[in-house]
Amino acid sequence: MITISNPIIDKHEVKAAAKVLYSRNIAQGNVVHILENNFSKFCGTKFAVAINSGTSALHTALYAADIHTGDEVITTPFTFVATANAILMVGALPVFVDIDPITYNIDPQEIEKAVTKKTKAIIVVNLYGQPADFGAITKIAKKFKLVVIEDAAQSVNAVYKGRKSGNLADLSCFSFYATKNITCGEGGMITTNNKSYFQKAKQFINHGQKTNGIYEYVDIGLNLRMTDIEAAILLEQLKKVDWITKQRQEYAKIYNKAFKNITGIEIPYISSYTNHVFHQYTIRITKDFPLSRNQLIAYLQNKGIQTRVYYPKLLYKYPHLKKSIHKECRSAIKASNEVLSLPIHPALTKKEVNFIIETISSI
Ligand SMILES: *Cc1c(COP(=O)(O)O)cnc(C)c1O
Repeated sequence: MITISNPIIDKHEVKAAAKVLYSRNIAQGNVVHILENNFSKFCGTKFAVAINSGTSALHTALYAADIHTGDEVITTPFTFVATANAILMVGALPVFVDIDPITYNIDPQEIEKAVTKKTKAIIVVNLYGQPADFGAITKIAKKFKLVVIEDAAQSVNAVYKGRKSGNLADLSCFSFYATKNITCGEGGMITTNNKSYFQKAKQFINHGQKTNGIYEYVDIGLNLRMTDIEAAILLEQLKKVDWITKQRQEYAKIYNKAFKNITGIEIPYISSYTNHVFHQYTIRITKDFPLSRNQLIAYLQNKGIQTRVYYPKLLYKYPHLKKSIHKECRSAIKASNEVLSLPIHPALTKKEVNFIIETISSI
């Protein structure tokens, strides 16, 4: 089976993790701090806080920005559930607005229409690895004094107009889950240029303890720390991130060339001002294709090719999110019915990529 994702792990990660294990300092220590330094440099931000998951990073970012009960947070319904769950976890209300049908990212015009007196923040997801329209979004945020949080779970190493993902908003949140472009199994990161957000994030992930005061708890908190074992693995992954990105972009080019003239398939749009890191390679299967999208999934599965739909259901359709604010998001509904993600990870061989292309083209 050609799987939809497969992490690049070799002896370097194994050795780095083993070194931490043999040191017996296996919780959070110096290696996490080295990672935080390297990662903030990588993104071009002043600060980075290592966290135990991308979901925790979003939760912590909302806490740090003082988002709480009574506040509204605007986001997209066409994303992973964690984006919205983090909003609920701080007691705020998600407000879902429609996406741009071309990029699949949140539509800035729809954001502006949804702003009320209660709106405090926007969570912008860089879906599939392509940054959203941060120029337009930042303008709206300034006009209404809103905090912008970048959900960069899928966009490590992406660029928007010369700026790295992680440095496009007030706070940015990364995930290092096993399927993400770089991984340590489970892990996350917040990057920011704001010292107060940085300190509040540090405090929250460590039981609400003052940054320099043991057993001095100044507010509620959790234990959301990353360990040195994970950080050691991520330091190795960070050395590979440029190669991983290049490999994904190379495969995207090959796919684009093969699929661009096939009736019923729409290839991904790449805006001129972003560097798309292809966390997913996602095509649309329209009604002009000989098989329905779901028939195609089954056909490919039979041929040994795993594919996925990111995402099959809009978030406001789930029971715990029905109380959210939303209108019908037509572009997002259409996308959820048509999109299909193909394997694009760098562990794929050229031969496997060609097999996927031939299998689909022959239909
Ligand atoms: C993966 C992902 C998350 C959650 O990250 P975890 O590390 O799995 O908690 C949040 N948002 C998006 C868009 C994601 O893809």
